[in-house]
Amino acid sequence: MTEPLPVNSEIWQETLQWQPSTAQQALFDSLYQGVLDGNRQVNLTRITEPAEFWEKHLWDSLSGLAPWYEPEKPEWLPTVKRVIDIGTGGGFPGVPVAISRPQWQVTLLDSTRKKIAFLETLCQQLGLTNTDCLVERAETVGKDPKHRAQYDLAMVRAVGPASTCAEYALPLLKKSGFAIIFRGQWTDEEEELFMGALDTLGGELVAVCSWETPLTQGNRHCLYIKKVAKTEKEFPRHVGIPAKHPL
Ligand code: SAM
Repeated sequence: MTEPLPVNSEIWQETLQWQPSTAQQALFDSLYQGVLDGNRQVNLTRITEPAEFWEKHLWDSLSGLAPWYEPEKPEWLPTVKRVIDIGTGGGFPGVPVAISRPQWQVTLLDSTRKKIAFLETLCQQLGLTNTDCLVERAETVGKDPKHRAQYDLAMVRAVGPASTCAEYALPLLKKSGFAIIFRGQWTDEEEELFMGALDTLGGELVAVCSWETPLTQGNRHCLYIKKVAKTEKEFPRHVGIPAKHPL
């Protein structure tokens, strides 16, 4: 048996204005146990201590959905139905998002077969009916009509430079859909370079929100990008190019 995750209803509520039900908390506990078990066969995460897992995987995954952007009158989030987590790895942010928003259909995408095989089993064990697991490269999925321009929300955490993440995400979004790109630090210089890439891809940076994690006060940023124009057919570029030569 593993140590239980800290159950911090007040911190959830105070920091994210959301808190898990008892059933969702039980799913987070099972997710934690499942990731620890899976870590023995597949390299999923180095974050395994209960408090650290809670903060850096669960809380962090859901922090991007807190009402930082649109605090007064949320108009975009309530319309979300189809979500894709690009480069989900051990299931972050996609699995906590699927648990916290059961009304959303969440595609978990990763190019590593072993990770997706693990997530398929995990989602089955958790009884999640709102996830699809897909082993593929984001560049390939972005050209597939079954996925291109089909999503309301794309989330990307720890998958590379922001413009690489945007090149993976924007082609998958419907017009007016949103991408949330998770960053640790974010500088004005990065933002200046990023604006050019977004322009090329049909995106607009509508907000950059920053906050601290609740237990260890780590810096976090999320970039909220709206798709304002169709992404040209040439994007995403061939497999490997967005990472090797970011826009
Ligand atoms: N998003 C997870 C997180 O925040 O814990 C995992 C981050 S891990 C550092 C990056 C993941 O992205 C890896 O699992 C890798 O296989 C996947 N990845 C990298 N490039 C990709 C691509 N072009 N298409 C699909 N998955 C990709």
